[in-house]
Amino acid sequence: MTEAILQPAPPTPIGVQPDADTLPDKCDQCDQPPAYHYTWAWGERGYCCPTHRLALQQAARNLRRTIEFAPLVKTSAPFLRDERTHLQARVLVLQEEAQEAHTRVAELSQTNVELNAEVQRLTVLSREQRRQASEAAREARLAQDAAADAMVQLGAKTDEIRRLELLLDAARRPAADETA
Ligand SMILES: [Zn+2]
Repeated sequence: MTEAILQPAPPTPIGVQPDADTLPDKCDQCDQPPAYHYTWAWGERGYCCPTHRLALQQAARNLRRTIEFAPLVKTSAPFLRDERTHLQARVLVLQEEAQEAHTRVAELSQTNVELNAEVQRLTVLSREQRRQASEAAREARLAQDAAADAMVQLGAKTDEIRRLELLLDAARRPAADETA
């Protein structure tokens, strides 16, 4: 998408290097792309490829003068207008998506609050139902005890009735004998 071009590498060891707009696309001595910015001891500057860097170093040794090199690094070319427009549109889409995500998070937070309240309500309800169930069980036990008591009393009454019937029979029998 973006064509890589060369730009001075920070930090610059010597002087101020020109920016990408003024950077040549060739070595000063050949058609290779420049890889270094150089400065001679007397201030002359230029750009060179790796091959010509070696040549310049050799020349500096021959001249007994110093030459300093600063490597150039690749960086992205400035965005073309179409790319800029496309990216601006993309930014708008992403901002919209971020807004939607925020809204969704807010909705989920609200749902979470509601669910927590519901859980709270059900917990209280469940506790109340357990209390009522325990109360009902206690009442059922009391009713069972009362029923058992009633059965015992019924048994006692039945026995008493039978005993009274026997007494009644015994009382009637002599009279019956007399009338026979
Ligand atoms: Zn060269």
